Amino acid sequence: MTVIIDGKQTAASVLDAVKETAAKLESETGKKAGLAVVIVGDDPASHSYVGAKSRMAKECGFNSIQHTLTADTTQDELADLVLRLNDDPDVHGILVQLPLPTHLSPDPVIQSIRPEKDVDGLNATNAGKVSIGDTKTGLVSCTPAGAMIFVRRAHGQDLSGLNALVIGRSNLFGKPMAQLLLNANATVMIAHSTTKDLPALCRTADILVVAVGQPEMVKAGWIKPGATVIDVGINRIETLERSGKSRLVGDVAFKECLEVADVITPVPGGVGPMTIAMLMANTVTAAIRANGYPHFT
Ligand code: NDP
Repeated sequence: MTVIIDGKQTAASVLDAVKETAAKLESETGKKAGLAVVIVGDDPASHSYVGAKSRMAKECGFNSIQHTLTADTTQDELADLVLRLNDDPDVHGILVQLPLPTHLSPDPVIQSIRPEKDVDGLNATNAGKVSIGDTKTGLVSCTPAGAMIFVRRAHGQDLSGLNALVIGRSNLFGKPMAQLLLNANATVMIAHSTTKDLPALCRTADILVVAVGQPEMVKAGWIKPGATVIDVGINRIETLERSGKSRLVGDVAFKECLEVADVITPVPGGVGPMTIAMLMANTVTAAIRANGYPHFT
């Protein structure tokens, strides 16, 4: 029978471990883990994500600090705030919510976050550490780190002999995911929008990870029988034309692929809940490292 991975349950167990570690840090050193979340502008979806992250940080026992900047904030003002947070010893993790308003460039902001506080794992130092297999001193981008927990639960720590295909090559997800799979000894391919005969390539994959942002693109006929399918996509589609009602679907046609895969993640309730859990895990990791402990596992 196909295993449907319960992302909420897995995220809850990660969060339990985070809370325990944060409480231990506080009882041993008197210091709380601190997460600063920065949001610029009025985008409702971004405000909702940031609210959820700040609430979760409080639930984990962190010092949760939210900086809400107006939509006309300049690049220099945002840079100044990041520099102040970099120098604040009570802040262990800094997250700048993306996307930024279009007049601001995200890259200089992301690169200016001190690597040890870059809990989104997006700056060049942390991306480089993932690519050389250093997860002991680096911070791994949250969504691939969460997806990797599912892969390890299905296949163990060593993926030797398994073919993995990641569809999508973003810096946020596809590239770090491929690196993590490679570090675990899988044989890895990365596909993107100009890849030829994607269905045939998918059928070679024991582990198929999809992050493209195309609703239900991957069909049952693309899946190798018995494969593990990790669906990262989050797409909102209208249920009935002009009804105003919508629902979330992934990049994988879940119902039909369920018949072919051995292990599959649903949307919602799969990878999504892991992203926020791994953000909390990265923050407590950054806090314990800042206080002289090696790393959180
Ligand atoms: P990007 O838009 O940055 O990247 C999409 C990638 O998919 C690109 O590499 C693109 O190729 C590739 N692609 C697009 N269309 C096709 C196609 N038809 N065939 C093959 N490849 C294609 O997206 P992200 O990586 O940021 O996110 C991908 C999805 O994952 C989105 O739905 C997003 O909402 C979701 N997501 C979910 C998260 C979660 O917490 N669950 C977190 C992050 C993302 P090319 O490079 O050639 O353009």
